[in-house]
Amino acid sequence: MPNEYKNFDRLKRKIYLWVLPCLITAMTFNSVIEFQSSDESFLGLMLGPILTSWFIFSYIMVLIQKGFQVIEYSTLVVVVLAHLANFYFALDRLLLNQNLGLGELTNWTGLLMVYVFITLKRNRGLIVALSYLVTALILALLTLEGFSYDTMDTLIQYFSATTTYIVTIYFGQYILKVYSDLDSIKKEAYVDSLTGIGNRYQINQWFDYQLNRAVTGADPLSIIFFDLDNFKSVNDHYGHKVGDEVLKEVVRVVKSSLRSDECFGRWGGEEFIVIINAPKEDALKLAERLRKRVEMHEFETIGRLTSSFGVSDYRTGDSIDSVLGRADKALYQAKNLGRNKVQHHSELLEYRSSEEKVLNN
Ligand code: GH3
Ligand code: MG
Ligand code: MG
Repeated sequence: MPNEYKNFDRLKRKIYLWVLPCLITAMTFNSVIEFQSSDESFLGLMLGPILTSWFIFSYIMVLIQKGFQVIEYSTLVVVVLAHLANFYFALDRLLLNQNLGLGELTNWTGLLMVYVFITLKRNRGLIVALSYLVTALILALLTLEGFSYDTMDTLIQYFSATTTYIVTIYFGQYILKVYSDLDSIKKEAYVDSLTGIGNRYQINQWFDYQLNRAVTGADPLSIIFFDLDNFKSVNDHYGHKVGDEVLKEVVRVVKSSLRSDECFGRWGGEEFIVIINAPKEDALKLAERLRKRVEMHEFETIGRLTSSFGVSDYRTGDSIDSVLGRADKALYQAKNLGRNKVQHHSELLEYRSSEEKVLNN
């Protein structure tokens, strides 16, 4: 859902700003035509202009963002009562001329039910929708004697369709809720609950995607694997809670130095991974920048902290494990060289010696 609609009221306001002009147009045409071919009762004739005026008033209030909730509820009351009145007039016409159906009223009943449920949500919406249905049914039963079997059919169709609308919208809201819950559960499954960045599952997904691109030669791929130095002593000195805050602060500092297309996740504990579409040289530069940022940052409780970095880049035939394994070895080397360093796997002695062996053979 776009950010601007995160607030449900804002989304509803937007709907009103689109729907009210449509209603005003429909009601204005309807009123003008009914005034000209006037076989309506006076009350029937007045209903159109009253509703139009109310909708114009509501539109202005929604536009200037004044009393939205009052307008919303009063519009609901006005619209439901007006619809009932229209139903009553339609019954009257049905009695006079048995061949006519319920007319334009039927176009709007489904929409009215949608509106009721948008405004009131599930259970209260159901009560209002059923109240409309029962009241309309009572009105129809009171006039039942005058109807032929043909027009009875019209009424049965109307009530069956309205009941179907109510049931569908009521359970439809449940289905939408289930979908949106599933969506957020799915999202949460990929997010690290402490720091809010991608967790190991997410990192593996990024890897899958990026490795496929690297295999096809679409993009270069490098990974930066880093680990906080002597973090255990932070927990020992300041406690686990402060340790957690430091982890969050590290994430904020690193995140602010990354572009949005650079994937940053927590591999576990105080180990993090950055996946980038860049060759070795750029990855090393970025790792060095991140190392400095962490080193220079003044942490709220603990002051200064350093971190060590291992960098590796994609080579033909690599799997996720092999790229990651090389970055891990480089990180291990950075720790061995005294910490607060950036190491690339190809700089490792072990790697050099194996390369030399290959060359000598
Ligand atoms: P090195 O420089 O060799 O990495 O030393 P270190 O002390 O950072 O490394 P080690 O792996 O021995 O310890 C990591 C510590 O990180 C141990 C654990 O208590 C701490 N840690 C791991 N996950 C969390 C966490 O979620 N919150 C907190 N507060 N501490 C954590
Ligand atoms: Mg550590
Ligand atoms: Mg560690």
